[in-house]
Amino acid sequence: MDIKYEPPAAMQFGINLKLIEYIPYQIRNSFVSMLSLFRQKSSSESERRKFPIDDLADRLDPSTDEKREFWQKDFGVIMTHDVDTRIGYEYGMSKFVDMERAEDLVSTFNIVAESFEYDISEDFIKSLVRDGFDFGMHGLHHDGKFAFLPVSEQRKRIEDSATRGRELGLPSLGYRAPMLHRTKLMIRHLTEAGYDWDSSFPDTDDSTIGYESTGSRTIFPFYPLFRVGEDWQQSPVLEIPVSMPQDWTLLYYYRLSEESMLRVWKKKMDYIKSKGGLAVFIIHPDPEDFGHPKYHNSYRSLLNIIKKADPEILTCSELTKRWKKKFPPPT
Ligand SMILES: [Zn+2]
Repeated sequence: MDIKYEPPAAMQFGINLKLIEYIPYQIRNSFVSMLSLFRQKSSSESERRKFPIDDLADRLDPSTDEKREFWQKDFGVIMTHDVDTRIGYEYGMSKFVDMERAEDLVSTFNIVAESFEYDISEDFIKSLVRDGFDFGMHGLHHDGKFAFLPVSEQRKRIEDSATRGRELGLPSLGYRAPMLHRTKLMIRHLTEAGYDWDSSFPDTDDSTIGYESTGSRTIFPFYPLFRVGEDWQQSPVLEIPVSMPQDWTLLYYYRLSEESMLRVWKKKMDYIKSKGGLAVFIIHPDPEDFGHPKYHNSYRSLLNIIKKADPEILTCSELTKRWKKKFPPPT
């Protein structure tokens, strides 16, 4: 079953009234967040997502059992890293690669196509691809403006990121929305630009500003729906839901100790293992997140916890190729 995605009421409210255009970019996030507090209480309990586990879609989906059989082990894990900053690109990435190699593990890095902070080195990317690492596009710019731009500019950013991804010759064309800012037409634009996969929708989102209590409610990949006029169409872009809480969320939103973070990750991963689902992590190589050397030991511990749980470890590109073979996308 596929879930129709509607941006949260506050986001729609701001955008529909065109209020958002008159608010400087720097404070829009807090504006949207403030609106969230005042959003109508119409959303019933069943519409609110539970955090950190919300399995409503999986309970309703008749194909869940078949999806559970996909893995070569009890469950799947994809480690992803969104590279937001210069230090994350120049320092954090290589450190993560070293730590992952030591555990015989590969990951998917999502890089900003035209970052204001770093220039992508094709040789560096290609050498990592040769070693089994994977890449997706983390938007055109990482400036927090995407969801507030006119539709034509949103579409152009997605198209320009695709062009850059193709130039880099990546194993597949994938997308991770900057700051996980999803919009109503994003899936349509990704579909039209020819992306193979997207990984921008958490299963349950408690902390992305403006998107609190949204989420796809599934720990399995799926083909999302998008709107064309009055109708819904199913996209061949494979949605890979972000099913694990981000390092950012646990550090700054919940303000957990590293020990508690590891416990939360283990608990949710154990749950996903018990359901035969896919655990998708976002750990940032940036200095304010797990890219800071002070967190490297905890990152090693996390890799250790993952290895001990004995999942099938994949990249987004590998998963997409195999998933589409087993569950062909709509044509
Ligand atoms: Zn990011």
